[in-house]
Parts: sequence; C-alpha cells; structure tokens
Amino acid sequence: MERPYSPLLNLRIFAMALTTQRVDVPVIVDESKCLEKCVACIEVCPLDVLVKNPETGKAYMKYDECWFCLPCEKECPTGAITVQIPFLLR
Ligand code: SF4
Ligand code: SF4
Repeated sequence: MERPYSPLLNLRIFAMALTTQRVDVPVIVDESKCLEKCVACIEVCPLDVLVKNPETGKAYMKYDECWFCLPCEKECPTGAITVQIPFLLR
C-alpha cells in the first residue's frame, strides 16, 4: 500500500540528512594532498582539534573550534590545509 504524502515526514528526513553531514568547519584538508605519515598540523595545533582518520590516514578537523592562528596551514608540507578565516577577523 502506498504511503500518503506527509510534509512532516519529509521535514524529518531533511533534518536527519542535515545532522548526519559535516556542514562546514573552518579548516579544510585537501585529502588528495595529505600525506599519510605526516602529523605536522596535528602537532602544531594548540587546541588539538585536528586528527587523523584511522581508516584513510588523512587529517581532518574533528572539533569545530579554532583560534585562526594558522600554524597548521603554514607547517603543512604540501599545502593541503586551508583555514577559512571569518570575514570579521580578516
Ligand atoms: S588555525 Fe590554529 S587553532 Fe585552528 S586548526 Fe589551525 S592550528 Fe589549530
Ligand atoms: S600537515 Fe598537511 S600533509 Fe601533514 S597531516 Fe596535516 S594536512 Fe596532512
């Protein structure tokens, strides 16, 4: 039997999709440039918010907190990191 159209159900599905995806974090790592054996950005970050994905060996921002101090971007040997500085801090 076909389910009747339910706007509420559609809204719930949309909300679930939003909550299961990383929407935006200030530090973006280009995985194609990230070296598996490197930990430079992880070691220099004073907040310890960058970690390695154990499955891929690539770095990513695990916690959405950042001082926008930039050593992670400067120390990355391959230029894989981009820190997106908010407009008001530029
Ligand atoms: S900008 Fe600073 S606080 Fe933010 S991830 Fe890089 S090193 Fe950590
Ligand atoms: S410094 Fe660059 S290459 Fe090294 S782990 Fe971080 S993102 Fe990857």
